Order: sequence, then structure tokens, then C-alpha cells
Amino acid sequence: MFNVAIDGPSAAGKSTIANLIAEKYNLVKLDTGAMYRALGLLAIQSNTDVEDEEAIVALFSDLNLDMKADGTIILNGQDISNEIRNDKVSMAASTASKHESVRAKLVKLQQDIAKQGGYLLEGRDIGTVVLPDAKIKIYLDANSETRAQRRYDEYISKNLDVNFDDIKKDIEKRDYQDMNREHSPLKQADDAVLIDVSSLTIDEVVAAISKIIEQKNEV
Ligand code: C5P
Repeated sequence: MFNVAIDGPSAAGKSTIANLIAEKYNLVKLDTGAMYRALGLLAIQSNTDVEDEEAIVALFSDLNLDMKADGTIILNGQDISNEIRNDKVSMAASTASKHESVRAKLVKLQQDIAKQGGYLLEGRDIGTVVLPDAKIKIYLDANSETRAQRRYDEYISKNLDVNFDDIKKDIEKRDYQDMNREHSPLKQADDAVLIDVSSLTIDEVVAAISKIIEQKNEV
């Protein structure tokens, strides 16, 4: 079974698209960002400095993650699915993820999970580092205005009191950090197909990726 890699900056719609493609082609989806988020949450809960590589690596002994097929994330027996989706955890995850030894551990875990094939992994370094041999590699991008609007609409629909400019600034800051870190920065793999989703509907993005999958696999 083939693997699919989907990378791209925050709020480009990776999760929504990944869920639809995984369902359509019967692939198991792995949200690798949720792993970094769980680690970020553990750091916040234990007052650990996310800049301190050794201290963050030490948190792995408390990182018992159960990622359910329906997207539920269980950390040490607690459902953290919603708790990890806030801006504080996003930034903690992004900073914790810049450390080489932290990445090495999570990359190994992700590679072990996907080794039998039939997986769709979404993240930042899937096409470049985690699954360099993935048959299908997609890089989803959109301008920061579009991505901030998407995040803003999502928060408003959850009745959260948010400000568009703050959201846009947060997204730009995190992307800058992810794209400019020393180890495995976010970038398009040479053999990934770039899809700019700024002016596409979800259905159009799914159709574009389906075409790539079907051409490569002659499904
Ligand atoms: O995808 P998501 O926004 O949930 O990821 C949270 C953070 O985790 C990202 O901003 C990035 O710093 C980090 N991450 C990563 N590599 C991945 C997935 C996520 O560095 N494969």
C-alpha cells in the first residue's frame, strides 16, 4: 500500500483535506502535529522551558500517547483533543519541535507507524524527512491572509472571542519559526506537488490530489 505525505504551513487546511483523502483511499491518517502539540502541552503543564532541549527530551518518559482512528488524542489517559488546539500550545509545540533530539524521537515513532504503508501523514517534514520515499507528496500552501481568515472563522464558529490581526500575527510568527529552524525546517520536498489552496474550494483540492493519486497508482 502506498503512503501519502501532506505538508504545509499552519491553517492551510491540511487536516480537513487529509481526513477526506484518507477516507476516500482507505488510508490511516496520522496527524504528526498533534504529537508535537501533546509534547507542548506536557511542557506547559509541567512548567518546562520549551527552549531547554534536555528538559523537553526528558518529558518523553511521560508521553504516553494514544492516537485513535477517529482523531481523538489521549495523553496519559486524558482526552486532550481540544486542549491542544489553542495558540499557547501551538507556540509551545513549535518551539519544542525545533530541537534536533526531540525531532529524532518523534520522526522515528512516525516512521515505525507508517512502515507497512497505507498511511497518510500530515505535518511539516513528512515529504522531506519522515517519508522521503512516499509515493505521493503534496505541499498545501495559501497566503497568510487566507489562512488567518480560515482560523478566524473556525474560532468564531466556536464562539471564541478573537481578533483577526492577532490571529494573523500568530500564524506568521509560527510559520516563520517553523520555516527558519535549523533542523528539518518546513519546506516543499523537491518531488512534492504544490497546491495553492487560496482560491480553491475543499472539493477542488480533494479533486486535484485525487487526480495525482490516481495517476501515480493507476487506481
Ligand atoms: O500541524 P500543527 O499546527 O498541529 O503543528 C504544530 C506544530 O508542530 C507546528 O507549528 C510545527 O512547529 C510542529 N510540527 C513539526 N513537524 C511536523 C508537524 C508539526 O515540526 N511534522
